[in-house]
Amino acid sequence: MVSEDTLREKLATCTRIFAMQGLLGLFGHISIYQPESKRVLMSPGLGSDKATMRPDQLLVIDLSGGAIEGEGPPPIEWPIHTALHGARKDALAVAHLHPPYATLFSIAKREFKPVTLQGALFGAGIPVYRSAHLIKTPERGQQILKVIGDNRALLLRGHGTVVVGRDIEEALFASLILEDDARKAMQSATLGEWDYLTPEECREFEAEIDVQRRAHRAWSYLVKLESRWDRQPATGLAPLA
Ligand SMILES: [Zn+2]
Repeated sequence: MVSEDTLREKLATCTRIFAMQGLLGLFGHISIYQPESKRVLMSPGLGSDKATMRPDQLLVIDLSGGAIEGEGPPPIEWPIHTALHGARKDALAVAHLHPPYATLFSIAKREFKPVTLQGALFGAGIPVYRSAHLIKTPERGQQILKVIGDNRALLLRGHGTVVVGRDIEEALFASLILEDDARKAMQSATLGEWDYLTPEECREFEAEIDVQRRAHRAWSYLVKLESRWDRQPATGLAPLA
Protein backbone atom coordinates (compact mmCIF):
# COMPACT_ATOMS: atom_id res chain seq x y z
CA MET A 1 0.00 0.00 0.00
CA VAL A 2 1.33 3.43 -0.96
CA SER A 3 1.65 5.62 2.11
CA GLU A 4 -0.68 8.57 2.53
CA ASP A 5 2.33 10.88 2.81
CA THR A 6 3.44 9.81 -0.66
CA LEU A 7 -0.05 10.28 -2.07
CA ARG A 8 -0.33 13.71 -0.43
CA GLU A 9 2.97 14.74 -1.96
CA LYS A 10 1.81 13.57 -5.39
CA LEU A 11 -1.58 15.23 -5.19
CA ALA A 12 -0.07 18.56 -4.13
CA THR A 13 2.49 18.31 -6.94
CA CYS A 14 -0.23 17.46 -9.45
CA THR A 15 -2.33 20.42 -8.28
CA ARG A 16 0.63 22.74 -8.93
CA ILE A 17 1.32 21.15 -12.33
CA PHE A 18 -2.30 21.65 -13.40
CA ALA A 19 -2.05 25.28 -12.22
CA MET A 20 1.20 25.70 -14.17
CA GLN A 21 -0.61 24.37 -17.24
CA GLY A 22 -3.44 26.88 -16.76
CA LEU A 23 -5.99 24.13 -16.16
CA LEU A 24 -6.69 24.51 -12.46
CA GLY A 25 -7.38 27.96 -11.04
CA LEU A 26 -10.40 29.37 -9.29
CA PHE A 27 -12.46 26.32 -10.28
CA GLY A 28 -11.70 22.61 -10.43
CA HIS A 29 -10.33 19.99 -8.05
CA ILE A 30 -8.49 16.68 -8.15
CA SER A 31 -8.49 13.65 -5.88
CA ILE A 32 -6.80 10.36 -5.05
CA TYR A 33 -8.55 7.44 -3.38
CA GLN A 34 -6.83 5.00 -1.07
CA PRO A 35 -9.10 1.91 -1.11
CA GLU A 36 -7.39 0.29 1.89
CA SER A 37 -8.23 3.18 4.22
CA LYS A 38 -11.28 4.37 2.23
CA ARG A 39 -9.92 7.91 2.49
CA VAL A 40 -10.23 10.41 -0.34
CA LEU A 41 -7.49 13.05 -0.62
CA MET A 42 -8.75 16.20 -2.34
CA SER A 43 -7.37 19.53 -3.40
CA PRO A 44 -9.32 22.39 -1.77
CA GLY A 45 -11.92 24.29 -3.80
CA LEU A 46 -12.83 27.87 -4.64
CA GLY A 47 -10.51 30.47 -3.14
CA SER A 48 -7.45 28.25 -2.67
CA ASP A 49 -4.22 29.01 -4.50
CA LYS A 50 -3.52 25.93 -6.58
CA ALA A 51 -0.13 27.15 -7.79
CA THR A 52 1.43 26.96 -4.32
CA MET A 53 -0.44 23.92 -2.95
CA ARG A 54 1.34 22.04 -0.16
CA PRO A 55 0.61 18.48 1.03
CA ASP A 56 -0.60 19.73 4.42
CA GLN A 57 -3.23 21.94 2.76
CA LEU A 58 -5.06 19.02 1.17
CA LEU A 59 -8.38 17.79 2.50
CA VAL A 60 -9.35 14.25 3.46
CA ILE A 61 -12.97 13.11 3.22
CA ASP A 62 -14.76 9.76 3.36
CA LEU A 63 -16.89 8.28 0.57
CA SER A 64 -19.96 10.01 2.03
CA GLY A 65 -18.33 13.42 1.81
CA GLY A 66 -17.70 13.64 5.54
CA ALA A 67 -14.71 15.80 6.44
CA ILE A 68 -11.89 13.87 8.12
CA GLU A 69 -8.96 16.25 7.91
CA GLY A 70 -8.09 19.69 6.61
CA GLU A 71 -9.37 23.22 6.89
CA GLY A 72 -12.75 24.17 5.51
CA PRO A 73 -15.41 22.15 3.77
CA PRO A 74 -14.60 20.04 0.71
CA PRO A 75 -15.31 21.50 -2.74
CA ILE A 76 -19.07 21.60 -3.36
CA GLU A 77 -18.80 19.04 -6.16
CA TRP A 78 -17.15 16.37 -4.01
CA PRO A 79 -19.78 13.79 -5.15
CA ILE A 80 -18.10 13.66 -8.57
CA HIS A 81 -15.05 12.19 -6.86
CA THR A 82 -16.67 9.93 -4.29
CA ALA A 83 -19.10 8.40 -6.81
CA LEU A 84 -16.28 7.43 -9.18
CA HIS A 85 -13.88 6.32 -6.46
CA GLY A 86 -16.54 4.18 -4.84
CA ALA A 87 -17.71 2.51 -8.03
CA ARG A 88 -14.73 2.04 -10.32
CA LYS A 89 -11.51 0.24 -9.54
CA ASP A 90 -9.83 2.06 -12.44
CA ALA A 91 -10.75 5.46 -10.96
CA LEU A 92 -8.24 5.78 -8.13
CA ALA A 93 -7.60 9.34 -9.30
CA VAL A 94 -10.15 11.84 -10.60
CA ALA A 95 -9.63 15.28 -12.11
CA HIS A 96 -12.53 17.69 -12.47
CA LEU A 97 -11.41 20.72 -14.48
CA HIS A 98 -12.87 23.61 -16.47
CA PRO A 99 -10.32 23.47 -19.30
CA PRO A 100 -10.69 26.20 -21.94
CA TYR A 101 -10.77 24.00 -25.05
CA ALA A 102 -12.23 20.67 -23.96
CA THR A 103 -15.11 22.50 -22.27
CA LEU A 104 -16.12 23.91 -25.67
CA PHE A 105 -17.14 20.38 -26.66
CA SER A 106 -19.66 20.45 -23.83
CA ILE A 107 -21.16 23.61 -25.36
CA ALA A 108 -20.96 23.23 -29.15
CA LYS A 109 -23.33 20.73 -30.70
CA ARG A 110 -20.40 18.81 -32.12
CA GLU A 111 -19.31 15.46 -30.80
CA PHE A 112 -15.76 15.13 -29.49
CA LYS A 113 -13.62 12.82 -31.63
CA PRO A 114 -9.85 12.55 -31.25
CA VAL A 115 -7.74 14.10 -33.99
CA THR A 116 -4.23 13.20 -32.75
CA LEU A 117 -2.53 9.87 -32.10
CA GLN A 118 -2.22 10.69 -28.40
CA GLY A 119 -5.92 11.50 -28.37
CA ALA A 120 -6.59 7.84 -29.21
CA LEU A 121 -6.97 7.48 -25.44
CA PHE A 122 -10.44 8.86 -26.01
CA GLY A 123 -11.29 6.76 -29.05
CA ALA A 124 -14.31 5.29 -27.30
CA GLY A 125 -15.79 8.78 -27.20
CA ILE A 126 -16.67 11.15 -24.38
CA PRO A 127 -20.28 11.19 -23.22
CA VAL A 128 -21.93 14.46 -22.20
CA TYR A 129 -23.81 14.93 -18.94
CA ARG A 130 -26.63 17.19 -20.09
CA SER A 131 -28.17 18.56 -16.89
CA ALA A 132 -27.22 22.18 -16.26
CA HIS A 133 -26.41 21.97 -12.57
CA LEU A 134 -23.50 21.37 -10.24
CA ILE A 135 -22.85 17.83 -9.03
CA LYS A 136 -23.40 18.59 -5.38
CA THR A 137 -25.42 15.60 -4.16
CA PRO A 138 -24.67 11.86 -4.05
CA GLU A 139 -27.75 11.33 -6.27
CA ARG A 140 -26.19 13.47 -8.97
CA GLY A 141 -22.94 11.60 -8.44
CA GLN A 142 -24.84 8.40 -9.28
CA GLN A 143 -26.20 10.04 -12.44
CA ILE A 144 -22.63 10.89 -13.42
CA LEU A 145 -21.73 7.21 -13.10
CA LYS A 146 -24.55 6.19 -15.43
CA VAL A 147 -23.50 8.66 -18.10
CA ILE A 148 -19.74 8.05 -17.98
CA GLY A 149 -20.16 4.24 -18.00
CA ASP A 150 -16.69 2.73 -18.33
CA ASN A 151 -15.32 5.65 -20.32
CA ARG A 152 -12.16 7.48 -19.37
CA ALA A 153 -13.77 10.92 -19.43
CA LEU A 154 -17.01 12.83 -19.24
CA LEU A 155 -18.04 16.29 -20.43
CA LEU A 156 -20.35 18.30 -18.18
CA ARG A 157 -22.57 20.51 -20.34
CA GLY A 158 -21.59 24.18 -20.22
CA HIS A 159 -19.25 23.41 -17.36
CA GLY A 160 -16.11 21.26 -17.72
CA THR A 161 -14.57 17.82 -17.76
CA VAL A 162 -14.09 14.78 -15.55
CA VAL A 163 -11.16 12.46 -16.26
CA VAL A 164 -10.32 9.29 -14.33
CA GLY A 165 -7.02 7.44 -14.02
CA ARG A 166 -5.64 4.31 -12.38
CA ASP A 167 -3.27 6.67 -10.61
CA ILE A 168 -2.75 10.43 -10.44
CA GLU A 169 -0.07 10.28 -13.13
CA GLU A 170 -2.58 8.79 -15.57
CA ALA A 171 -5.33 11.26 -14.64
CA LEU A 172 -2.90 14.13 -15.25
CA PHE A 173 -1.62 12.72 -18.54
CA ALA A 174 -5.10 11.96 -19.89
CA SER A 175 -6.38 15.42 -18.87
CA LEU A 176 -3.51 17.15 -20.66
CA ILE A 177 -3.96 14.99 -23.76
CA LEU A 178 -7.68 15.72 -23.83
CA GLU A 179 -7.11 19.47 -23.68
CA ASP A 180 -4.37 19.31 -26.33
CA ASP A 181 -6.52 17.22 -28.64
CA ALA A 182 -9.53 19.51 -28.19
CA ARG A 183 -7.38 22.54 -29.01
CA LYS A 184 -5.97 20.91 -32.16
CA ALA A 185 -9.45 19.84 -33.26
CA MET A 186 -10.66 23.43 -32.89
CA GLN A 187 -7.66 24.87 -34.70
CA SER A 188 -7.82 22.36 -37.54
CA ALA A 189 -11.51 23.17 -38.00
CA THR A 190 -10.50 26.69 -39.06
CA LEU A 191 -8.61 25.14 -42.00
CA GLY A 192 -11.52 23.05 -43.19
CA GLU A 193 -13.22 19.82 -42.28
CA TRP A 194 -11.25 17.90 -39.69
CA ASP A 195 -9.96 14.39 -40.13
CA TYR A 196 -10.48 12.52 -36.90
CA LEU A 197 -9.21 9.07 -35.90
CA THR A 198 -11.75 6.28 -36.18
CA PRO A 199 -12.49 4.17 -33.09
CA GLU A 200 -10.70 1.28 -34.81
CA GLU A 201 -7.56 3.34 -35.45
CA CYS A 202 -7.65 4.46 -31.82
CA ARG A 203 -7.90 0.87 -30.58
CA GLU A 204 -4.98 -0.18 -32.76
CA PHE A 205 -2.82 2.69 -31.54
CA GLU A 206 -3.69 2.07 -27.91
CA ALA A 207 -2.81 -1.61 -28.30
CA GLU A 208 0.70 -0.61 -29.39
CA ILE A 209 1.46 1.66 -26.46
CA ASP A 210 1.48 1.39 -22.69
CA VAL A 211 -0.58 4.36 -21.51
CA GLN A 212 0.46 4.11 -17.89
CA ARG A 213 4.15 3.98 -18.79
CA ARG A 214 3.75 7.06 -20.96
CA ALA A 215 1.85 8.77 -18.17
CA HIS A 216 4.68 8.10 -15.71
CA ARG A 217 7.30 9.44 -18.11
CA ALA A 218 5.21 12.55 -18.69
CA TRP A 219 4.91 12.89 -14.90
CA SER A 220 8.73 12.90 -14.43
CA TYR A 221 9.06 15.56 -17.10
CA LEU A 222 6.33 17.78 -15.68
CA VAL A 223 7.63 17.45 -12.12
CA LYS A 224 10.99 18.78 -13.34
CA LEU A 225 9.31 21.70 -15.11
CA GLU A 226 7.22 22.50 -12.06
CA SER A 227 10.24 22.45 -9.75
CA ARG A 228 11.73 25.39 -11.60
CA TRP A 229 8.48 27.19 -12.37
CA ASP A 230 8.61 30.78 -11.14
CA ARG A 231 4.87 30.66 -10.42
CA GLN A 232 4.31 33.62 -12.72
CA PRO A 233 2.82 32.46 -16.02
CA ALA A 234 4.27 34.61 -18.79
CA THR A 235 0.86 35.99 -19.54
CA GLY A 236 0.14 37.00 -15.96
CA LEU A 237 -3.37 35.67 -16.51
CA ALA A 238 -5.17 33.91 -13.72
CA PRO A 239 -7.53 31.69 -15.68
CA LEU A 240 -10.79 30.59 -14.15
CA ALA A 241 -10.10 27.06 -15.34
ZN1 LIG B 1 -16.93 22.43 -11.87
